[in-house]
Amino acid sequence: MKNIKDYNLEELKKEMQEIGEKPFRAEQIFKWLYQEKVKSFNEMTNLSLELRKKLEENYSICNFKIIKKQESKDGTIKYLFDVLDGNAIETVLMSYHHGYSICISSQIGCKMGCKFCASTGINFIRNLTSGEIVEQLLAVEQDTGVRISNIVFMGIGEPLDNYENVVNSIRIINNPKGLNIGARHISISTSGLVPKIYKLSEENIPCTLSISLHATNNEKRSNMMPVNNTYPIEELIQACKDYIAKTNRRISFEYALAKDNNDNLEDAKELVKLLKGMLCHVNLIPINKIENGKFDKSSNENIMKFRDYLNDHGIVATIRRELGSDIDAACGQLRRKNLKE
Ligand code: SF4
Repeated sequence: MKNIKDYNLEELKKEMQEIGEKPFRAEQIFKWLYQEKVKSFNEMTNLSLELRKKLEENYSICNFKIIKKQESKDGTIKYLFDVLDGNAIETVLMSYHHGYSICISSQIGCKMGCKFCASTGINFIRNLTSGEIVEQLLAVEQDTGVRISNIVFMGIGEPLDNYENVVNSIRIINNPKGLNIGARHISISTSGLVPKIYKLSEENIPCTLSISLHATNNEKRSNMMPVNNTYPIEELIQACKDYIAKTNRRISFEYALAKDNNDNLEDAKELVKLLKGMLCHVNLIPINKIENGKFDKSSNENIMKFRDYLNDHGIVATIRRELGSDIDAACGQLRRKNLKE
């Protein structure tokens, strides 16, 4: 059965016409799903009983079930959701002084194989549909009662490897008649799929692009991220420069510091050379040590020295606040643990 949450508003209007209904029905359904956040067609009380029955017979409303929920002392909540086909995905709700932010998954498993990631070792199973991406947000809001204001595509999966569904989910999230969260409050993270970065620059979606960089030369980066063998640093940085030129939007570079691997001052110097003059920001991430992981966390002293070097040399850099360190907060950890149990 087709998931009603997979449609953006324009698609749903066409779909309604195809089943002999007026297009404005799509707006009513959108309002029920994303503003009233109902869980069944039966609750859509301004639709006729006949239409509700027709919807019931032809479409599903995917309502995830919570398999596990872990709450951190700092307010971070990590969910393991049953996506209703026997698979599970992770979603994390984080609380900041400026509001609630959600980290969502885009795929079940991941093909990229980054060595520092807990999702590595979880085979790629399939892409999430647009509706399944959106449902993560709805399910968390329904469970907690909070209003989410920021979304980061940094959970399990490479968002740009599921390009069409991710972009479509943003159109649903973004729509004033949908969840009405502005694209400026949405961040897409990529391990560096160069052709998709160019494609994204052509879309009229002013979201933030976040690049998982993590190293400044091909040898080190390929060692951490096999995707670098296909799209080496020079091509990735050129794509970023072209993206900035086309969109006039600042790029965020993620740099996970791993002890004795990419956290010394030589690395900081190379990073300055690489990013000099770009409209960008560097987000330094104290790496989350994972079970059987190859990398250890850098010392606080090294992390601060690294940040100060960047800031002193014209690259704006901040250290990401560690959230959920008392729960399985690295992406893939909760799912991996659950698979073993
Ligand atoms: S860090 Fe992201 S892209 Fe890399 S393996 Fe993990 S989920 Fe995939």
